[in-house]
Amino acid sequence: MILHFIFVVKEEDLQRRKPEFEYVKHMAQFFKVWIKEKFGKDFEIQCDELVTKPRSILQKLDTHTLLRDHEYRGKEIFHFYLCHFRPLWTDCTCEGYHAENFGMIHWKEPKDPNDTLFLAEKNCTTVSHELAHELLRSVGYKKFTADIHDIWSKHFFDQMEFEQYDSNFKKTDAKPMFLTIDMSDLRF
Ligand SMILES: [Zn+2]
Repeated sequence: MILHFIFVVKEEDLQRRKPEFEYVKHMAQFFKVWIKEKFGKDFEIQCDELVTKPRSILQKLDTHTLLRDHEYRGKEIFHFYLCHFRPLWTDCTCEGYHAENFGMIHWKEPKDPNDTLFLAEKNCTTVSHELAHELLRSVGYKKFTADIHDIWSKHFFDQMEFEQYDSNFKKTDAKPMFLTIDMSDLRF
């Protein structure tokens, strides 16, 4: 099984956003370990950039474009797009969307490109949200939407902490490099 993270970046932003892509590559390896630990699944990880050129308003990039890209690349691969735009439609309580072997989130750009705490809080958490939906669905867990949204609300409204991991993918109480939803109450 392959999990392929794709950082969607505008051509004119390519250089400026290099530090974010370095974080994405590190995060991709983190999620390999996280998924193995939480779901017992072994994914081979791939990670690259998808550079987009300026388009006319009629050819705006959207979820459909990404779904077509996913089909073109191969539906047996789990493609996860980190995008500079929001999903057109979603059931999610975050700016993300998932379907079979498909995930996308609106990846937020930090003011300081090396602000890893911002990246962990705004983006890594959202990736874990969509991965959790899709991986729970794939193991036959029925409430793969509602239960993740319950946990998400607890993180935002009940002061429940995100799980914190350091740069070696170990749990930490110090400044984290990666943050994920806490699924420790789920049984699957
Ligand atoms: Zn959701």
